[in-house]
Amino acid sequence: MTFDDDLLVIGAGSGGVRAARTAAGLGARVTVVEDKALGGTCVNVGCVPKKLLWYGAHVNDDLEDAAGFGWHVPKATFSWETLRDHTLAEVRRLNGVYEKLFEVSGVQLVRGRGTLIDANTVEIVTSTGLLRRSAKHILIATGGAPVRPAIPGAEHAVVSDDLFTLPTWPKRVAVIGGGYIGVEFAGIFHGTGSTVHMIIRGEGVLNGFDHDVVNSLGEALKRRGLEPHYRTNVTAIEKHGAHKTVVIDGPAGVRRLDVDLVVLATGRAPLIAGLGLESVGVATDRKGAVMVDDHFATTVPGIYAIGDVVDRHNLTPVALAQGMLVARTLFGEPPTPLDWENIPTAVFSNPPVGTVGLSEAEARRRFADVVVYRSIFAPLKSKVSGREEKTMMKLVVDASNDRVIGVHMVGPDAGEIVQGFAVALKCGATKARFDATIGIHPTAAEEFVTMRSPHSGPPPSQLVGPPTSTSAASLTVKH
Ligand code: NDP
Repeated sequence: MTFDDDLLVIGAGSGGVRAARTAAGLGARVTVVEDKALGGTCVNVGCVPKKLLWYGAHVNDDLEDAAGFGWHVPKATFSWETLRDHTLAEVRRLNGVYEKLFEVSGVQLVRGRGTLIDANTVEIVTSTGLLRRSAKHILIATGGAPVRPAIPGAEHAVVSDDLFTLPTWPKRVAVIGGGYIGVEFAGIFHGTGSTVHMIIRGEGVLNGFDHDVVNSLGEALKRRGLEPHYRTNVTAIEKHGAHKTVVIDGPAGVRRLDVDLVVLATGRAPLIAGLGLESVGVATDRKGAVMVDDHFATTVPGIYAIGDVVDRHNLTPVALAQGMLVARTLFGEPPTPLDWENIPTAVFSNPPVGTVGLSEAEARRRFADVVVYRSIFAPLKSKVSGREEKTMMKLVVDASNDRVIGVHMVGPDAGEIVQGFAVALKCGATKARFDATIGIHPTAAEEFVTMRSPHSGPPPSQLVGPPTSTSAASLTVKH
């Protein structure tokens, strides 16, 4: 049979674009179908603009810290319009870069919405009418979208997609959800001077992260003046003219919080509507994620899926790796198998989190003899700036073979620091290797290679609960 394309990709996000370019580089004829801005969530309403807003909010810390270093800074004012417009300009520049990348790699871009007709055919609704293309292989890379929970009045709230184009910046915000997006945007709003309530149904932020990360970040948020409401549900969101009231029910009883903006940061779901998955027999799970095997093949031969639509570690670099794996598998290069262990991640909260490997709790579930090293200290900079903040760094070690199986950090540059240690974990580094590595002084990162005494705190199960304050005994004096 002859086909129009060797590979047709539905979705021009990080994973889809990487798969398309890799396949084209291997000689395949590739078409990408996309009806929205190129670059998907990461470029348009995720990682990139979020990091720019995070930088913007961070300037406030530097301004506050400046006085201790001898700088007199007159009272600064913040212009959301400037930060928003500069951020959106960078997003538009990247959209153009993606378009160019398609041109130079020989990938054909069709603007429209694709629906599967059969295992080798996609129907595309374009601005000029219907179009059908046949392809030897089809790749679904449509990503995900924010979930709106069934809270009465949820329609009065915004989701993360809306935050980058807000017409005005709110003075008072309620963020519902304490996951990645919740803590990141809570930090961004607070950094620019907004009052922030975080409404979290669980015991702490970042459910599933190491308990010391959860506790350290929880303490930091409180110290900075954010208001986390733990074990709290939202029962209604009411609209009263320009402001909203969030009705919450938690340990302090029923409370009404008056705010200017309510943000739903309650998770994301795979974007599968209108793809025609059912009609061609592509199976999905309970959450709507496309089911795939280890090679990202769906239940229909010839149809593959990658990225957030398969809902496994929904991170841009993971989608990129999946895209390359599929393209190489299909077009003749030995694929690099995807190793789901030791995927590093950063949360751009304030302070940020960096983590790779197992949490202490997960390590204790998997291994009989686990040793933990932990250090909580005031960063050198804070001694002069006067900022009250603690950095937390932690190593989790499998004592049976001395391998470091978890690296966790809450503090400035956590993402930058942990990326390097992720390589060490990938190489199977032992604690002895960490100890044999010379530190770079004075840095926070050196703490990871100078932790000598195991930490003997209570096991994680006894630490679950709202963040407690750090005992003086657990503080390491660095200088
Ligand atoms: P997360 O799953 O990280 O967090 C969702 C939060 O919402 C949790 O606190 C969850 O509580 C809470 N929640 C869920 N449903 C409800 C509900 N009905 N009522 C109240 N609270 C609720 O999702 P996010 O939306 O924050 O982020 C989605 C994904 O995007 C992340 O998991 C990550 O994969 C990716 N991402 C990555 C980033 C990065 O790499 N820095 C940045 C942003 C996103 P509970 O924990 O109790 O379920």
